[in-house]
Amino acid sequence: MDLPAPKVVVFDLDGTLIDSDDALVAPFLQLGVDRSEITFGHAVAEECDRLGISLEDYVGAYDTGVVQAFDGVAALLDAVPRWAVCSNKHPAPGRAELARLGWEPEVALFADDFGWAHKSLSPVLERLGVGPAEVLMVGDSLGDLQCAQEVGCDYAWAGWNPRVAASRPEGTVLDAPSVLLWLLGIFD
Ligand SMILES: [Mg+2]
Repeated sequence: MDLPAPKVVVFDLDGTLIDSDDALVAPFLQLGVDRSEITFGHAVAEECDRLGISLEDYVGAYDTGVVQAFDGVAALLDAVPRWAVCSNKHPAPGRAELARLGWEPEVALFADDFGWAHKSLSPVLERLGVGPAEVLMVGDSLGDLQCAQEVGCDYAWAGWNPRVAASRPEGTVLDAPSVLLWLLGIFD
């Protein structure tokens, strides 16, 4: 692993901390969207617009009570000193899931914080009071990688997501949440 130990880890939420593909897809299916049209990692309002459904209907149909963390993530978050969430998700289900899982990131920004366009790390770093050299972004989509590239921080893939593992992306792929703890020097 060739990344320096970061001061703060910024996580994507869906597909990175929580295994949420099925929960994200269910409202679309319920609202008549064909499964083959659904992809992941977009700003929720833009995706609803693209698929021809209303954001309110989507959020109304989203079940905030079912999603679980990926194995090892809860222990990871317990151990990481400083962490934040940067997500394209609608804030209502996003914050409800954080609360249900008992997670309290230092900063959590959702789609409304980005004007409902694709998210960006800049306002997250600003609130954290850190520069890009002190940050590692962890995500599961090209949009997450793009966020890191825009500000010039390190990036690692959440390789515990089966979609990421199967796609074998270029760059640093964390095979398990525990690998990040080693990277952070927490088991030194
Ligand atoms: Mg994601």
